[in-house]
Amino acid sequence: MTLITTEVFGLSESRDPHFDETKIKNLPLGRVLEKQRGEYRVFSNENEILCGIRSRLRKSLIYPQSRERRQSVDEIRSILQIDPVAVGDIVRFTPGENEENTGVIEHVEQRRNQLSRRASGLKPVESVICANVDILFIVFSLKKPVPKPGMIDRFLIAANWEDIPAVLVLNKTDLANESDLDNLRNIYNLAGCKILPTCALTGDGVPELKNLMVNKTSVLAGPSGTGKSSLLNKIQPGLGLKVSEISKASGKGKHTTAHLQAFPLKDGGMVLDTPGIKQLALWNLEPDELITLFPEMEPLAGKCKFGLSCGHNTEPGCAVKKGVDDGSIHPARYKNLLRIYGELEELYGPQY
Ligand code: GDP
Repeated sequence: MTLITTEVFGLSESRDPHFDETKIKNLPLGRVLEKQRGEYRVFSNENEILCGIRSRLRKSLIYPQSRERRQSVDEIRSILQIDPVAVGDIVRFTPGENEENTGVIEHVEQRRNQLSRRASGLKPVESVICANVDILFIVFSLKKPVPKPGMIDRFLIAANWEDIPAVLVLNKTDLANESDLDNLRNIYNLAGCKILPTCALTGDGVPELKNLMVNKTSVLAGPSGTGKSSLLNKIQPGLGLKVSEISKASGKGKHTTAHLQAFPLKDGGMVLDTPGIKQLALWNLEPDELITLFPEMEPLAGKCKFGLSCGHNTEPGCAVKKGVDDGSIHPARYKNLLRIYGELEELYGPQY
């Protein structure tokens, strides 16, 4: 679980002379639904409040985020967050004196978890997509565009890393054969992943999806064109989310530039559509931790002949490879483990 820490550089809000904890605790609470150019739409007591942000907060909270067990300052210094407030944050704000439904965010409550992406640019800068998520729906379509297990696995790993339960939604069942679905079931049943087939056109699977969202903060993520907006429009008619076209040439969804927005659900809870986000960042994940994020492989961590230092590739006595041979691990998942492992090693440098 990730916590935003302000302690890394020996600074904390409580040591900020302008931070009055008692005063803050008496301010109204709200949930950030949307942010755009320094303005935050906050849901509080059934009202939407348009908020700015106290400059003190901007200064005191833009610190690197780190896992408690790995606080190497050198490493953390190069990772900066872009904005101290994310969609899904629970905030305290001072209501505006002159204008109704306006305010200034004074404080961000500690996050339970967060999903991030890497901001564009050469430096690794973390951009938090959303905070305090209860459930992640990884939405892929069975056809148009076809699903890529490599991408699915990255979403699953990111969810697992943040302790967020995930459901693999396989949309557009109307375009697929039973065997398309079975192929993915074979891979992800072994991984202990819940699968929900849906069709936004006929509504199949939509009531089940809706039920899973009640009273929760849900996030829909996946490539463009898989039907996220269509499913949300079906779940809550009236949302009126723009539905994208599928390019005839590539069979992929055309990139829509809509920004991140959370919507309160009529039956309770809120849902966040993440248009245009193909991949979540595996922030601060080191190679030797990767295997623990594949649930079917996790019990094997440390059981290889070379223990935790096994690369699960050419090493003899590898428990993971044995799992692939005896059918308890799907070869597609094993392939993705090796691929992501290689990428992480490139990032952190070989450790063994
Ligand atoms: P998003 O980019 O993931 O939000 O995808 P959209 O909801 O914009 O949908 C992309 C395209 O797929 C649109 O043309 C939708 O009409 C279509 N679509 C969405 N769901 C389904 C489905 O279940 N079956 C079929 N055949 N098309 C769908």
